[in-house]
Amino acid sequence: MPFPPFAYRDRTLFVEDTDLEAIARSTSTPVYVYSANAIRERYRRYDRAFGQTPHMVCFAVKANSNLSVLRLLAADGAGFDIVSGGELFRVLQAGGDPSRVVFSGVGKTREEVEYALETGIHSFNCESESELALIDSIASRLGVKARVAVRVNPHVDAQTHPYISTGLRDHKFGIDIAQADEVYARAAALPNLIPDAVSCHIGSQLLDTAPLVEAFEAVLALIARLRARGMGITTLDLGGGLGVPYKPEQREPDVTAHIGSLCARTSGLTLMTEPGRSIVGPAGALVTRVLYRKSTATKEFVVVDAAMNDLIRPALYQAHHEILPLRQSGAGTVIADVVGPVCETGDFFARDREMANVMPGDFVALATAGAYGFVLASNYNSRPRPAEVLVDGAGWRIVRRRESLVDLIRGEEA
Ligand SMILES: *Cc1c(COP(=O)(O)O)cnc(C)c1O
Repeated sequence: MPFPPFAYRDRTLFVEDTDLEAIARSTSTPVYVYSANAIRERYRRYDRAFGQTPHMVCFAVKANSNLSVLRLLAADGAGFDIVSGGELFRVLQAGGDPSRVVFSGVGKTREEVEYALETGIHSFNCESESELALIDSIASRLGVKARVAVRVNPHVDAQTHPYISTGLRDHKFGIDIAQADEVYARAAALPNLIPDAVSCHIGSQLLDTAPLVEAFEAVLALIARLRARGMGITTLDLGGGLGVPYKPEQREPDVTAHIGSLCARTSGLTLMTEPGRSIVGPAGALVTRVLYRKSTATKEFVVVDAAMNDLIRPALYQAHHEILPLRQSGAGTVIADVVGPVCETGDFFARDREMANVMPGDFVALATAGAYGFVLASNYNSRPRPAEVLVDGAGWRIVRRRESLVDLIRGEEA
């Protein structure tokens, strides 16, 4: 079953007003295809949900860092949540406003902190006392003040896949909320830091908002304590993490209601949020061509030209992606494993999946691949990474060309 903005018209899979097969034939496969209008709408839904509450919606660049995707969000006034100097470079190249950039991540290097301070980013979400000390010393040398938040770990179980759960005591992320009062006191004593915010991010792909609300309440209580001690906390960064439906039976959380209820419980605070997946996930698909069909005594295989190097989510997170034929042929269904050409048993997109009975030469779309898709692609097996296409209404363009064989050896010596 397709999710919007993907839909069948007369047995042909469209994204917005564009026939996906026209793109696949023109660019060859595999190819990532994103809908500009879906990305804009999903960003605006967040922006509007805050109503009159002062806020900043910072798109989590790691979910999809294509320059054209960043540019269209920047044009809509989005801020950006980055986790590396490389992501900051991308945001600047795409015309993003550095004063709307927040730098997250547990292992920022000296060079990255310097780059971010020189660029004039909005703030850092800090994850250790040594990081606070490093930022203070670099800010001192550059003669600037650095706005910082401490990312607190509230011990809330996000009830999501263990690899994308981040808010428990034994995770590497954040500072234990029980130690936060002391850490803020020490941060306030560092002369080049402005600790005016608290941040929290407990995990990704949350379909239930209850853990987010629980974390939010713990952070509000911390902010009340810090303010009572005279600290000028003005901002609460909610992190990202809202989930998207990968399976037809999954329901997407209501962003408007969720954000609205959080706004209703705060006053006098600026709220920040860092959504990634929930802005771009459903807006993209990976289109691939069927190379072969083969069967063993027990299994039917559909071999496609995309592989785990192009989309690693099934192999890494046991993730489910709907597999949709670009043309509904009426040839019935088959129960098959959908696999790629890479020499790993983990190279599969689906196992024992009832799906359209596609034949060699047919195209299929792996749905909901706009987030954590291309950004996690590699050249494993010396496979050039796929092209990326941005559709805007009935028009579309290549926003990253397919890598060539020469790209594969760039920088190497024989
Ligand atoms: C990954 C990440 C996000 C985005 O998470 P989504 O689940 O894609 O919304 C936001 N903030 C931080 C700190 C992150 O690490």
